[in-house]
Amino acid sequence: MKKFQYVKPSTLDEVADILLKYGEEARILNGGTDLLVRMRDKMITPGVVVDIKAIPELKELKYTKEEGLYIGAAVTMNEVICSKIVLERYRILAEAAHEVGSYQLRNRATLTGNVCNASPSGDTIAPLYVLSANVKIFSKDGIRLVPIDEFILGVRKIALNPGEIVMGLQIPDIKGKNGGAYYKHARRKDVDLATVGVAAFCNEGKWKIAYAAVAPKILRGYKAEELLNNMEKIDEEALIPVMDAAVSEISPISDVRASKEYRVDMIKISLKRAVLAALEQYELGQEGII
Ligand SMILES: Cc1cc2nc3c(=O)[nH]c(=O)nc-3n(C[C@H](O)[C@H](O)[C@H](O)COP(=O)(O)OP(=O)(O)OC[C@H]3O[C@@H](n4cnc5c(N)ncnc54)[C@H](O)[C@@H]3O)c2cc1C
Repeated sequence: MKKFQYVKPSTLDEVADILLKYGEEARILNGGTDLLVRMRDKMITPGVVVDIKAIPELKELKYTKEEGLYIGAAVTMNEVICSKIVLERYRILAEAAHEVGSYQLRNRATLTGNVCNASPSGDTIAPLYVLSANVKIFSKDGIRLVPIDEFILGVRKIALNPGEIVMGLQIPDIKGKNGGAYYKHARRKDVDLATVGVAAFCNEGKWKIAYAAVAPKILRGYKAEELLNNMEKIDEEALIPVMDAAVSEISPISDVRASKEYRVDMIKISLKRAVLAALEQYELGQEGII
């Protein structure tokens, strides 16, 4: 690995100053589970690595009715999985975080790192889409919120300007009856990236669907949503046209994990499983949770 300077600032202002000073030479280190692999493989060779884990507001996980859930950038997957408020009100996020890598990895990896890495197979991104999450961004000019689907531009491409750092994720409060689920299909059960993934979320009868690993970025399943929104009864049979609609909206590629044809088949099955699991949560309501 190329030699680099390691810095661990304790305020966001300091981070912004370092990023402005070093530009492309500087890289943010969060859990490091993506960054260090890319550095080891010499895919990137930063001169300065900026560790953000000593900044107190990035370790916060808090909920208010007005602002919803805030997950600071340095909050780990395991902290999200163990959070009572996440389990009670945003269960789909805990489920998705639990799909990431192994227990040890989840002790380091963060949701913000997953989002900033912007891989099409990032497990927490599709659930963040269906929850209408915003990315909270800090710079010396102030704080701005960007909807997640506008923040992720493509594979490893995000809408971050020079001198900006992601503070965390802001997820609106969910009012009314709701239920969601994330279904990941991979080559093996643990420590593998998604071959395909589907997030399904229903709030007061209105559905949101998002597909992972079928395009350069996460895709919303608008056609499937429309059919689901107009259905009186949802069961395996009724879902057949919804599964067909899903296929008409995606055009996956063949790669090391699967052929295009296999992905098309698996997106159907994954959609069915995600919708039925979300429906189960929806029907259980708050009492069924935890
Ligand atoms: C063995 C292994 C298994 C894995 N399995 C999975 C899996 O099953 N599912 C999955 O989705 N992923 C998986 N991953 C990928 C990785 O663990 C996740 O993407 C993780 O969430 C990244 O988070 P991190 O905190 O470690 O990010 P880091 O590696 O620290 O950062 C990732 C990128 O985001 C940037 N960044 C981080 N924080 C910020 C910030 N606050 N502001 C601006 N930029 C920032 C970094 O500069 C870097 O470019 C796996 C990785 C490994 C090594």
